[in-house]
Amino acid sequence: MYAQATPKRFLGCLTAMAVLALLLSFAFVRSFNPWRVYTSGGLGAKIVMTVIALYFAFVLMQFLSLSMTRIFIAKAANRPADDLVCPGCGKPLMAFAGVYRMPTPCPLCRTWWHGGPACYDKSRPPGPRFLSPCPSCHEEEEAPERELYRDLEA
Ligand SMILES: [Zn+2]
Ligand SMILES: [Zn+2]
Repeated sequence: MYAQATPKRFLGCLTAMAVLALLLSFAFVRSFNPWRVYTSGGLGAKIVMTVIALYFAFVLMQFLSLSMTRIFIAKAANRPADDLVCPGCGKPLMAFAGVYRMPTPCPLCRTWWHGGPACYDKSRPPGPRFLSPCPSCHEEEEAPERELYRDLEA
């Protein structure tokens, strides 16, 4: 489900879990109302239902935060979020958010990118996740420093 974090996949995942919860509740207490498990089910059944509920909430939160990010990015870039490409890895920003990391804005040029390890130049150690400049700004930011090193070595 994290391979390509599209809304469709999240909704599919949530639906599958809801159906599973209903089927399990019927198996446990012969009722399609999951709350009945808490009132008349055994301890094991309650634990199983709680785990599903927690996982459901977790996926729902991910889905909501991804949706919020999508809206935010689209507003900032004035383009549909799905059209945007990460300047680091060159992959679609939203579709690969699950693989690389939730998109984050570059503090210098405001370009949204993943900021994930795969989006950095491999020869450089990745900086802190937030407020780390995108690869193109990273380049410019480091240039004076490299010159300094060259002077020291000379
Ligand atoms: Zn990327
Ligand atoms: Zn930048």
